[in-house]
Amino acid sequence: MGLLPNSRVCGHCGRGDTPFVILGERGWCCSACTPADKSETLPGGTKEYLNKIRTVRAEETPDSDESNASRAVTQLLRGRLLNEIGNLKSYDILFRIGSPMPGNIHS
Ligand SMILES: [Zn+2]
Repeated sequence: MGLLPNSRVCGHCGRGDTPFVILGERGWCCSACTPADKSETLPGGTKEYLNKIRTVRAEETPDSDESNASRAVTQLLRGRLLNEIGNLKSYDILFRIGSPMPGNIHS
């Protein structure tokens, strides 16, 4: 779960008693500080779900098809992961282009 920011408090205003509405650049944003369009907001229970999967053991992690909140979190995780992989790939390509002697880089 290292890809997602702390789920206890809002990453923007620091409040812990309000529901998260979106995942922004600097972390979760809550309903108190971030007015968001209903179609863009995370489903209710997202914060509770995040805290739940952080505290249970892997084998007890709830089925990801269980609720709207879990589906939203799964989607966010997948997006983050693809982003990370995408960044690594483009970095790798740049690295290879910038190297005059391919084959000598690794190993
Ligand atoms: Zn906030």
